[in-house]
Amino acid sequence: MYINGSWREGDAHFAVHNPATGELLAQVAESTPEDVKAAIAAADAAFNHWSETTVYERSALLYKAYELMLAEKQELAHLMTTEQGKPLRAALNEVQYAADFLLWFAEEAKRVGGRNIPSVRAEQRFMVLQQPVGVVAAITPWNYPISMLTRKLAPALAAGCTVVLKPAESTPLCAIAVFKLLEKAGFPAGVINLVTTSTPAFVGELFCTDKRIKKLTFTGSTWVGKHLNSLAAQHMKRVSMELGGHAPAIVCADADPHHAAKGLGLVKFLNAGQACISPNRIFVHRSIYVSFLETMVDRTKKLIAGNGLQTEISIGPLINEAAVIKLERQVEDAVAKGARLLCGGKRLTGPTFDAGHFFAPTVLADVTEQMDIYYEETFGPIAAVLAFDTEEEVTQRANDTDYGLAAYIYTQQFSLAHRLMEKLNFGIIGINDINPTSAAAPFGGMNASGLGREGAEEGIQEYLETKLCGYLI
Ligand code: NAD
Repeated sequence: MYINGSWREGDAHFAVHNPATGELLAQVAESTPEDVKAAIAAADAAFNHWSETTVYERSALLYKAYELMLAEKQELAHLMTTEQGKPLRAALNEVQYAADFLLWFAEEAKRVGGRNIPSVRAEQRFMVLQQPVGVVAAITPWNYPISMLTRKLAPALAAGCTVVLKPAESTPLCAIAVFKLLEKAGFPAGVINLVTTSTPAFVGELFCTDKRIKKLTFTGSTWVGKHLNSLAAQHMKRVSMELGGHAPAIVCADADPHHAAKGLGLVKFLNAGQACISPNRIFVHRSIYVSFLETMVDRTKKLIAGNGLQTEISIGPLINEAAVIKLERQVEDAVAKGARLLCGGKRLTGPTFDAGHFFAPTVLADVTEQMDIYYEETFGPIAAVLAFDTEEEVTQRANDTDYGLAAYIYTQQFSLAHRLMEKLNFGIIGINDINPTSAAAPFGGMNASGLGREGAEEGIQEYLETKLCGYLI
């Protein structure tokens, strides 16, 4: 734990394991309610001074953190692969993405200005101030264990807020590494605080009920997000919620099926499918369905699973055994209801895999609405593919989900792409683009995928309060 500028060991500990090898990596402090309250008290005590620093001082510290993160990129990526499992190349990309938020918000800090509004009365003026909301509580997931931290910490700190952060129980070591780096950058005591635990519910409850916390920012499952949102509502706290997704991908009749299959294969199997923007239902126009599936299956069979520290590995383990069991259930259910299993479909076994949690990269064709996978977030390496005939049909089916995070479209027709973009109820849309994300662009979902946006100028607004001042001269 990192509380009020010092590291604490704690009396009790929980184990962190490598999901590829099962190896015990470390024992991490099990925070008590008293520790969490101490972290909140430290953030509260530090708030006045921190919020009064100039934006240029805050920017300089974030910029320093950015430089340190780039300097430590290799070590951070190595740690991430060991603790979370993604291949080293993907971990390096994530550290770069995480650093991008530090840089973006180091700059964005200087652009929070407020505004003046003219009045109908000659002697009246209106001024709008934007001020930090106060102490922020942050809860982050394991799938992107460094970038999901900086996506919250950087805008909160830039805005002048102090923070207490609780990382996921599977990946506290990445969080500890980020906090060591922020400490090195020179953030004052109390401004950033870290509490770790393997039993997160009591922390969520303290975050939502403590009067000193003014804002909760959460990334994780929709189920936990709804629970925390309802608790926070009882105390009228501001919230940002980055939740689950069930992205549709639409491959139109004019698209190159091989190009689309390559792109969607890459984004589907990224992080072993454990991404909130992973395509979960791939709709392919019937006229190119067979060619699309051929390329998708061919490329999927070539993926090499294993320990992400080895250079030839293109797909790592799942985070835990429960994830493997969920995928086995989704495949079994789909096949029983008529889906064609074209490759994969089972856990990987053998000396390379037995100590970890590996699932074979899988392609399921002819998926239908009757199957669990059609509505349930997969969060694993299963490409669920189905054919469509008309624009109207595919729009309706793509929108047939409670989620609304990301969607993908492959077409060369501008007007078709534009029509689909307008009609799809998703916060992020990639058109011939499998990576429509950047620190400079607003990331977030609609409906059950959440509230608010991260990154971009919207990202810092989540941590600012608006104050209107009307006055007579
Ligand atoms: P999760 O909801 O189980 O856990 C997320 C975080 O919440 C962890 O830190 C966990 O410890 C904590 N948590 C769990 N129960 C809690 C409780 N009762 N009170 C307080 N905190 C609690 O989700 P997960 O399995 O770790 O992450 C995967 C989910 O996150 C997926 O649904 C994925 O789509 C989503 N996700 C969304 C985004 C996004 O930006 N929209 C990004 C990454 C992941």
